[in-house]
Amino acid sequence: MKFWINNNNKEQSVVAANKLRGQLLDAGLVLDRRDPKLVISVGGDGTLLSTFHAYAARLDKVKFLALHTGHLGFYSDWTDTEIDDLAQRIIKCQDNIPSTSYPLLDVTVENKEGAAFHGIAINETVVRRLSSLTMKSRIDLDEEFFESFRGDGLCFSTPTGSTAYSKSVGGALIHPKISVFQMIEIASINNRVYRTISSPIIIPHNQQVDLYPQIADDYVISCDGITTKLKNVKKITIKLNYQRAQFAQYRHRHFWTRVETAFLGQDEKK
Ligand code: NAP
Repeated sequence: MKFWINNNNKEQSVVAANKLRGQLLDAGLVLDRRDPKLVISVGGDGTLLSTFHAYAARLDKVKFLALHTGHLGFYSDWTDTEIDDLAQRIIKCQDNIPSTSYPLLDVTVENKEGAAFHGIAINETVVRRLSSLTMKSRIDLDEEFFESFRGDGLCFSTPTGSTAYSKSVGGALIHPKISVFQMIEIASINNRVYRTISSPIIIPHNQQVDLYPQIADDYVISCDGITTKLKNVKKITIKLNYQRAQFAQYRHRHFWTRVETAFLGQDEKK
C-alpha cells in the first residue's frame, strides 16, 4: 500500500514520523508522495489542516490519518505513545482501510467578471473586510432574503471545525455525524437601527448561504486559516461540498469524550 507522512518541525513529531515510517516500510508498504492511499499527519490539528489542503485535489483517492504529538486532537485518534499498535493496524488493514467521513465547506466568490475564487475548508471559512472596517452584507438563506448584516464578519464552520475558531466566536458544538454547517455572526451591530438574528444558525446539507456585500472592495476570505484577499466582490456562496474528507478509523474515539477532555478535563465527582 502506498502512503505518505507529513509532519511538523517539532522534534517530537520528527521522531514519531521516522519511527512510524520505518515500521511501515519494513512491512513492505511503499512511500509515495504524489499518489498515496493513506496520508498520515504527525503533529497537531494544525498539521492535519495543512496536510488536508496539500491533498485537497485528491479527496476521492486519499484517506487521512492524524497522529498527535501531545494531547489527543480533534482529528486524531492516536498519540505518539501508541505508534507500535497503530503501525500493526495499518499493516493489517491495507486492502480495506476502515474509515469515516466528515463534511467539508465549499465557498465560491463572484465578481463582475464571473467566478473569482473557489475554496474548500474542513474547519471553517471566515469572511471579513481588510482592516477593521464594518462588513455590510445582505444574507440570503436557501435563496431567500434573511437579514442585513453589519459587523466584523461571518464565520461558517463544519461539524469538525465547530471545536476550533467557531467555538471561540460563540458557535455551537456539532457532532461530526450530522451533515450540516453553521453560520456565526462575528461582533454584529445590534441597536434600534440595525438588527440581526445574532444566534448561530445551523444549515442543512442541501441549503446554501449567499452573501451580497454592499461595499465590494477589500474582502478577506479565509479557509482553515489560509487567507485570500478579494476585490470587487459581488456574491459569496457557502454550502457543503459534494465531497467529504475520508479519515482512516482504526479505532473509534467518542466525540463528546474528546470535547470533555479538551475543554473541561474535570473529575466526574466534583
Ligand atoms: P494553528 O496553530 O494551526 O491552530 C490554532 C489552534 O487551533 C491549535 O491549538 C490547534 O490545535 C487548534 N485547532 C485546529 N483545528 C481544530 C479543531 N478542529 N478543533 C479544535 N481545535 C483545533 O493556527 P492557524 O494556522 O492560525 O489556523 C488554523 C486553525 O486554527 C483555524 O482553522 C482555526 O479554527 C484555528 N484558530 C482558532 C482561533 C481561536 O480559537 N481564537 C484563532 C485562530 C485560529 P493543535 O494544537 O492540535 O494544532
